[in-house]
Amino acid sequence: MKTIEIHNNNKKIYDIHLDDSYDHLGEKLKEIGVSGRKICIITDSHVAPLYLKEVADICAGVASKVVHFVFEAGEANKNLTVIEKIYEKLIIEKFDRKDYIVALGGGVTGDMAGYAAATFLRGIDFIQLPTTLLSQVDSSIGGKTGVDFQQYKNMVGAFHQPALVYMNLKTLISLDDRELCAGMAEVIKHGLIKDSDYYTWIKTHSETIMNREYEALEHLIYESCLIKGGVVERDPKEQGERALLNFGHTVGHSVEKLMDFKWLHGECVALGSIAAAAISRNKGFITEETFEDIKNTFELFHLPTKIEHLDPENILLATKSDKKMDGGKVKFILLRTVGNAFIDRELSDQEILDGMGACL
Ligand code: NAD
Repeated sequence: MKTIEIHNNNKKIYDIHLDDSYDHLGEKLKEIGVSGRKICIITDSHVAPLYLKEVADICAGVASKVVHFVFEAGEANKNLTVIEKIYEKLIIEKFDRKDYIVALGGGVTGDMAGYAAATFLRGIDFIQLPTTLLSQVDSSIGGKTGVDFQQYKNMVGAFHQPALVYMNLKTLISLDDRELCAGMAEVIKHGLIKDSDYYTWIKTHSETIMNREYEALEHLIYESCLIKGGVVERDPKEQGERALLNFGHTVGHSVEKLMDFKWLHGECVALGSIAAAAISRNKGFITEETFEDIKNTFELFHLPTKIEHLDPENILLATKSDKKMDGGKVKFILLRTVGNAFIDRELSDQEILDGMGACL
């Protein structure tokens, strides 16, 4: 088992454990004080048949009572209607402030369970048991929780840190290839914004990663958690550095919305990353060769680098209604070099349109 500690003001706030089973989950639950408390496991309809029983049995060895709430899998259900049903369940089961929510699943489950935990009784503790690559390297860490509202992605939410993140990397075996690749978009992003050596390692290990060899996955998830964990420790509420994690997300979120959420989040981030890399190239920061290399890396993991039938003007318009706007300006993350990203608030509409030209 590998462990990363996440701190705030020099005080540990939670551990992230990477393991090859759920064998140590019970002892980790005891360590954080779950003994004698109630647990509500929130999971989706795909993950429940795979892992709910095993996790519920382990929780039952520690908690005074274990209940579960299963929702229909998919981004379309990351909404306030499902949150209301979770509140109802918690009220019926008489949950109080000292009880726990456990999020078992991908980013949709983690975001929604985390938001329910952040708001029920003004906040109860929650535990992340992420089961997708995207949730293991990204969404389970850092305390961003929330739901979509109408067609606006993550429009309603709260910062609420987990009490524990425990990932059984073997759960990735049951994940389908498309979901694994979508998670790789965030992994490649970590290398691009923070660590060029890591980016090179990703490129040169595509086969072992795609074959889901345990050592390769463990190295990748550990390195990505270190990068994401480091950023959120230094800037927990996105007042500066954390915005760098939005590389590829400005255009990515707009594409996601315009495609009516038919493309996976990571696939849209891949496209957005190509646009951001193209802008970085057009402004003279990275070379044409580096731009092509970045494009090839996304393609190594079968991620889309081109999209047809979308009007660039519509994408631009959608970026302006994104919540990542800053004082009326689109906040764009660009690359100075591979491994070194920065925030640009001064891009003109034409510069953004030209960048998008690279993926349309
Ligand atoms: P997801 O939760 O929808 O999971 C993807 C699919 O895989 C679902 O169908 C799910 O049922 C299935 N699944 C999950 N684990 C499985 C397993 N082990 N085996 C088989 N199937 C499995 O999506 P995701 O890609 O994990 O997360 C995307 C969400 O995360 C988006 O809503 C996005 O906004 C959010 N997100 C949040 C943050 C954050 O900081 N909070 C960061 C990035 C993304």
